[in-house]
Amino acid sequence: MNGKRILLIIGGGIAAYKSCELVRLLRKQGASVRCVITASGQKFVTPMSLAALSEDKVYTDLFDLKDEAEMGHIQLSRQADIVVVAPATADLMARMAAGIADDLATTLLLATDKPVLCAPAMNVRMWTHPATQRNIATLRSDGITVLDPDEGPMACGEFGPGRLPEPEAIAAAISRMVSNPAHPELVEGSSFLGTEVKGKSAASTGSAQSELLKGTHIIVTAGPTHEPIDPVRVIANRSSGKQGFAIAGALAEAGAKVTLIAGPVSLPTPAGVTRIDVETARQMEAEVTAALPADAAIMVAAVADWRVDEAPSKLKKEAGPPSLNWQKNPDILAGLCAAPNRPKLVIGFAAETETAVEHATAKRLRKGCDWIVANDVSVDKMGGEQNRVHLITDAGTESWDRMDKTTIARALAQRIADALA
Ligand code: C5P
Repeated sequence: MNGKRILLIIGGGIAAYKSCELVRLLRKQGASVRCVITASGQKFVTPMSLAALSEDKVYTDLFDLKDEAEMGHIQLSRQADIVVVAPATADLMARMAAGIADDLATTLLLATDKPVLCAPAMNVRMWTHPATQRNIATLRSDGITVLDPDEGPMACGEFGPGRLPEPEAIAAAISRMVSNPAHPELVEGSSFLGTEVKGKSAASTGSAQSELLKGTHIIVTAGPTHEPIDPVRVIANRSSGKQGFAIAGALAEAGAKVTLIAGPVSLPTPAGVTRIDVETARQMEAEVTAALPADAAIMVAAVADWRVDEAPSKLKKEAGPPSLNWQKNPDILAGLCAAPNRPKLVIGFAAETETAVEHATAKRLRKGCDWIVANDVSVDKMGGEQNRVHLITDAGTESWDRMDKTTIARALAQRIADALA
């Protein structure tokens, strides 16, 4: 984003504090940020904080005559490469949809000839209200990119869609939009869907994001495997399956046909995904082979490296500690990479507790996969909602900021779409 000029409009909502982090991130990526804050936004963040972070004047008032003399509101809105509204409140988007220009923010939004990106944040009922959904549909048909909000616990105590997308996700969307100004729909592709509003996918309105991976078949493995010791005992691991399920869901949202081969987890099947439940590594390997051919395979499962010869009946504790006869499990990922009908893109995962990037870089070469996603499980214990990952490809290593697993899944789906295009 080197040298890109971003006009950031901050609306009034509790999520406004995240705009400070967004300014910091954008500047770190080489962009310059000029902030405009609404009157209600100033109840949550001060212009002084934003001025310090952006190292620029912060604009608050339409009737600041000195600025009109130096820089009219028309120039202010047009000097940028992109106008970003974050947080975009229900009220601000309603005024945008109606073409109202009653303060500096809405006047700039009406006057601009630059691409506009809205990152909404509001209470879940405000988000699902037909009036808000109508306004969002209007904004999208006017060519404005509206990200889907994140889902989760809200400051107001409720749960559901309405949380401001994480600053990393907003920055990633801005970056794609400024490098792809002619194709804002690619940005929606990365923020896509996710939010079911009255049986209809909110972001699917009037855009092509569900087409991104249309016509592709992608295999995803997820969860742990259980290797039986006897009819009642297993060798297991702590994988929750959340990241793999999120990736399967994000790929299906982007239009791919997804076969999710899942170890023993009790997660709901993401919409549009074909799920095959397995227990052991050998069953997982057989299902991966049966699911071929595929355009891509994302092997997220934490497959047990070892199994033991299974005792035919329950081992009795009176017999003392059992001696287990260990056998090596097949390496499903390495086997797939060497298969004659290998998918065009094979992605491995590597959960590491130390020197994650170094180990994963060696693993990528050893296994023969195209990309490997390394996650440092010493930072985020397995089973949490977030991950800090590094994407390792033959072009090098990209370290992503710590993000929700859903955000990572969507970013990865976008990258996969780019690679398969
Ligand atoms: O060797 P390690 O388990 O660290 O490698 C992790 C990657 O390899 C993951 O993508 C995992 O799904 C895959 N894997 C596999 N079969 C195994 C072990 C790991 O497919 N037996």
